[in-house]
Amino acid sequence: EGADDYRTRVEAAELPDAVRDAALREVGKLERSSEQSPEGGWIRTWLDTVLELPWNDKTSDRTDITAAREVLDADHHGLDDVKDRIVEYLAVRGRRAERGMEVVGGRGSGAVLALVGPPGVGKTSLGESVARALDRKFVRVALGGVRDEAEIRGHRRTYVGALPGRIVRAIKEAGSMNPVVLLDEIDKVGSDFRGDPAAALLEVLDPAQNHTFRDHYLELDLDLSDVVFIATANTLETIPSALLDRMELVALDGYTEDDKVAIASTHLLPRQLERAALTADDVTIDDAALREMAGDYTREAGVRQMERMIGKILRKVATNLAMDKAEAPVRVTVEDLHDYLGRPRFTPESPERTAVPGVATGLAVTGMGGDVLFIEAAKPTTTLQSTSADKDSAPSLTLTGQLGDVMKESAQIALSYLRAHGSEHGVDVSTLAGQIHLHVPAGATPKDGPSAGVTMVTALTSLATGRPVRSDVGMTGEVTLNGRVLPIGGVKQKLLAAQRAGLTTVFIPQRNEPDLEDVPDEVKSALDIRPVSDVAQILDAAF
Ligand code: ATP
Ligand code: MG
Repeated sequence: EGADDYRTRVEAAELPDAVRDAALREVGKLERSSEQSPEGGWIRTWLDTVLELPWNDKTSDRTDITAAREVLDADHHGLDDVKDRIVEYLAVRGRRAERGMEVVGGRGSGAVLALVGPPGVGKTSLGESVARALDRKFVRVALGGVRDEAEIRGHRRTYVGALPGRIVRAIKEAGSMNPVVLLDEIDKVGSDFRGDPAAALLEVLDPAQNHTFRDHYLELDLDLSDVVFIATANTLETIPSALLDRMELVALDGYTEDDKVAIASTHLLPRQLERAALTADDVTIDDAALREMAGDYTREAGVRQMERMIGKILRKVATNLAMDKAEAPVRVTVEDLHDYLGRPRFTPESPERTAVPGVATGLAVTGMGGDVLFIEAAKPTTTLQSTSADKDSAPSLTLTGQLGDVMKESAQIALSYLRAHGSEHGVDVSTLAGQIHLHVPAGATPKDGPSAGVTMVTALTSLATGRPVRSDVGMTGEVTLNGRVLPIGGVKQKLLAAQRAGLTTVFIPQRNEPDLEDVPDEVKSALDIRPVSDVAQILDAAF
């Protein structure tokens, strides 16, 4: 394409004045550069990018909030609180925009919605649903593993192979200046010597700056103020606080078994049927079978494994139909699961793990959702200890399992508490003299936080008394040197995990009782939840 063609195209395009001036300047340079020069190539690529951007294109929003809610309801089962929050956000945003008000940043003001929760709970697909609800274009920007600032903001044009950054590319892909842009996995953004992508994101999300966002490659102001940004994350721990400040957090904690069965039959099964070119007339899966899949074949907060299992069953059904090994309609019952999926992968672990003294079942929250963890206490034999190079300075507590500082301190506190108060609980305190080893599996996963305190006290008590802990009991709570139980986070995720793992009694800190309001009734009726203020209450009931 010659310089003349570019001049014609730039003049014909609907561009903001500043953009047209810049583009014409580049066309001038192109006219003066020689046909074969590399510079000519760079200019052409730049002009193509500028001409492809939707400078003046905006879609018009669906302003009917009731209709928006209907779209959200049609796309996802349950999640009522989350949908409420999204609808409120859209309502406020819509009103502000209508009145020509700026969408101000800062926590709670509705600048950026962040969906936070374990894998497979629907964060990414909710983001898409918001775009549908608003009737806007949707683009996903995958941030997982982005370490280079230039990924966000582009490379300067002098750089060989320079490209615009992901934000500019997203706008180009959307074809409108007001899409919903999903900043997916914002917790997985890293930083290294190539600059800090989080700082660039901060600028993207800051309403005071983002109407003149500058990409290094484009070197033109891009107005991002009409973009709806939605972020997703598994955990908040790795998100820089400056970014967190810009976000309005919405937690998705995971599903109960009832939820999973309902999601499977209303959403996952129909989608997988379509994928396998089957219909509900060809094959049905009993609710009881779906429930068994949720319980014994998967162990997850979300429904991703569940969807995979359904896909696997349907592929086998399709094959059987094709080979005349089965005849439509096929009905998949609980008894058939073994044939389709093999042996159940998950059986309750707790009875086996807690069969020996010194093991107690705790509850934790990881990036994968809530989970049970088995804290093990043991007393190494003295002969082993005497090989230690310096006996006097050898710590009396060996800790393994990649514990963080706070968790290590919890272990020290648990041991000190029992050395001082153990006799009140039938513990012969002399058994706690000398070396003690405390391990928190799985050894390869780093873990931290104070909420394992009560579990450590219970495991140590079990070790010292030789009595195994009841296998159906789980617990969570920080403990003080006097045995007070202090509140912890993640109650809902932990209780969901306790139910998944087949526990029946769970001790939580008394001060976490208000959190039970957010816990689904299904979980509350399945579990005997006991709020406690002193670890003695746990020790009285756990054996
Ligand atoms: P990750 O953190 O791993 O990215 P995610 O939360 O983004 O996970 P999605 O990919 O959005 O998970 O969800 C997994 C699948 O489960 C999607 O196909 C989604 O549509 C479906 N799904 C999740 N929750 C629901 C729900 N409540 N109703 C219907 N479908 C759901
Ligand atoms: Mg996702």
